[in-house]
Amino acid sequence: AVKADHLTKHFGELEVLKGVSLEVTEGTVTSIIGASGSGKSTLLRCMNLLERPDQGKLRIADETIRFTRNPQGDIIGLDRHQLQRLRAKVTMVFQQFNLWPHLTVLGNVIEAPMRVKGLSRKRAIALGKHYLERVGMADRHDAYPAFLSGGQQQRVAIARALAMEPRLLLFDEPTSALDPERVNEVLGVIRGLADEGRTMLLVTHEMHFAREVSDQLVYLDQGRIAASGPPEDVFDDPRCRQFMAPAA
Ligand code: ATP
Ligand code: MG
Repeated sequence: AVKADHLTKHFGELEVLKGVSLEVTEGTVTSIIGASGSGKSTLLRCMNLLERPDQGKLRIADETIRFTRNPQGDIIGLDRHQLQRLRAKVTMVFQQFNLWPHLTVLGNVIEAPMRVKGLSRKRAIALGKHYLERVGMADRHDAYPAFLSGGQQQRVAIARALAMEPRLLLFDEPTSALDPERVNEVLGVIRGLADEGRTMLLVTHEMHFAREVSDQLVYLDQGRIAASGPPEDVFDDPRCRQFMAPAA
């Protein structure tokens, strides 16, 4: 579904991604693990073009985008509409939920389908309610984010991402900002999406969860993929074991 090919990314002198190639096949779940600063968030942000890679290729569904070094330039060859259209195919759930505080739960979920995909308000509401139902938040559609727990806000953020009906869903540490007793309700939703066969790429520190839901595990070390494959194999890789030892 989505494939990254030799992506590189610098921030000034710092080379954060050093040629990362990664394919997320339709209907599968990939998890990325790695130390703080290894480039996990940057990789995710490159995959939905929130960040512009320096070099490499990205294939999203049937479109390929090639990046060449041009520090001043925008994403070469893509106008704002193309960029929006591509971003609609790869949506992201953030650690800090990032809901719009001035919009209700339903308002948050229907905004992008109306604005980016041009859905009528009526259709967007039907779609929004469907996905709020899916994450168990339909009864709170009138609430403002500030009145919800972290776990509830994150479930709304998941519904918002789903409402774009993306080809790939990205999750960047979706449970790291939650109180411990709220973690499972969000992991439960993500597990359900995995069981449905959604295509997902997930950065997480929840190792047991990653092992359970993932078809592919990627260990990122200082901007390079140090190990990847079936979770059992990657967890058994000595480099990955060393990384996980302190946490175990
Ligand atoms: P964490 O586990 O702490 O979330 P990460 O693996 O997600 O870490 P990134 O956020 O991708 O790591 O950051 C990788 C490196 O790039 C870090 O050294 C970080 O300081 C740097 N970096 C990230 N974003 C920027 C930016 N916009 N400008 C400059 N440096 C950045
Ligand atoms: Mg990060």
